Amino acid sequence: MEERIEKIKTEYQNRIQQAQTLKELDEVFLALFGKTGEITLLPKDFSSLSVEDKKIVGPLFNQVKIELEKAIEERRNEVREESYKKLETEKFSLQLPKLQAKERKGHLHPLTQLLQETIEAFEKLGFQQFDAPHIDSDYYNFEVLNIPEGHPARNLWDTFYLDPYNLGSQPGRMLLRTHTSNSQIRAMKQLGTPLRIMSIGRCFRYEAVDARHEHTLDQFEIVYVDKKVNMANLQYLSEYFLKTILGKDIKARMRPKYYPFVEPGAGVDGLCLFCKGKGCRVCGGAGWLELAGAGMIHPTVLKNGGIDPNEYSGIAWGFGPLRVAMLKYGIEDVRSFLSGDLRFLEKF
Ligand SMILES: [Zn+2]
Repeated sequence: MEERIEKIKTEYQNRIQQAQTLKELDEVFLALFGKTGEITLLPKDFSSLSVEDKKIVGPLFNQVKIELEKAIEERRNEVREESYKKLETEKFSLQLPKLQAKERKGHLHPLTQLLQETIEAFEKLGFQQFDAPHIDSDYYNFEVLNIPEGHPARNLWDTFYLDPYNLGSQPGRMLLRTHTSNSQIRAMKQLGTPLRIMSIGRCFRYEAVDARHEHTLDQFEIVYVDKKVNMANLQYLSEYFLKTILGKDIKARMRPKYYPFVEPGAGVDGLCLFCKGKGCRVCGGAGWLELAGAGMIHPTVLKNGGIDPNEYSGIAWGFGPLRVAMLKYGIEDVRSFLSGDLRFLEKF
C-alpha cells in the first residue's frame, strides 16, 4: 500500500508540473479528488490492512493528499502568472483583422501638391511665406491698395461683407478677403526692404459657381520690392513659374491689364490645352486661359507701406491654383477639385 501511495504521488506530481493550462490542472484535480478520483477511492482499501500498517499508511496518505493539493494550487498560480506576462510582452492590436485588410494609403490633395511645388520653386529664389487674415478690414483689403471706397474698380471683386446692410464708408468695415493682396501693406511695414514674400491661402468671392469660377478659392501671390526692379523681372518670374509648374511646352503671353494696385498691370495667359487655342467651354471661347495677374506695384501702394517709390520699385504677381490645376491636370470643371469626391481625387 505504501508503494501504491508513493507511485500516485510521483505520477501526479509530474502531471501537475507538466500542466500548461488551468484546464489541464482541473483535469488532474478531478483525477485525484473527484468522485472516482484515485485519492478519493484509495481509503476504501485500507480496511484490509493490519492495525500496524494502518498506523503507517494513514499519516502517509494524509501527507501525500495535502502535498498534491498544495502542488496543484501552486502550479495554478504559476500558470496564471505566466499568462499575465505573456499579455504584457505580446503586441496585440485592438483593430479587427477585417478593418486592417481594408486599410489604404492616402495622399495630398492635387491642389496642395501644386501649391507645395510652387512654394518650393519660389523658395529657391529667396521668397519667404507671409500670412494675412482671412477675415480682414476694408482698409487692408481695398483702401491701402489704392482702391478707396466708391472706386469703380471695387466692382472687380464681388465681396462678402460681414455686415451687408451697412454700406456706408467705414474704414473698419469687415469682410472676407477677396485676394491675398491684403498681405502687401502688412509685409512692407513689418519686413521693410528689400522684400521677397509669398502669400498663400483662401480667398472669397460673392460669385455664382460655374465651370471656371468658385466662391471659395486659393490664391498664391508674391511681392518683390527692391531697387531697380522692373518689367523684365516680372517677365522672368512668369516664365519661371509656368515652366516649373506646367512644363516647357506651355505657351504663354502677357497683355496689358488693369488692376488698381499696379502700374502697369499685366495678365499672364496660358494657351488653352483643351481646345489648343480654338476656343471652348473651359476658356469661354477665347482660346487662352488667364493664369496669373501681375504688375509693377503702384507708387501709392508703396507709399502706404512706408516705402519710398523714388528709391524702390516692386512687383506683385499672383495666380489662382484652381485655374492652373485645370491646365496642369487637364480637368475641365473647376468644381471637381473641391467636391471631395474620392473617385476623382484618387486619380492623382
Ligand atoms: Zn479652350
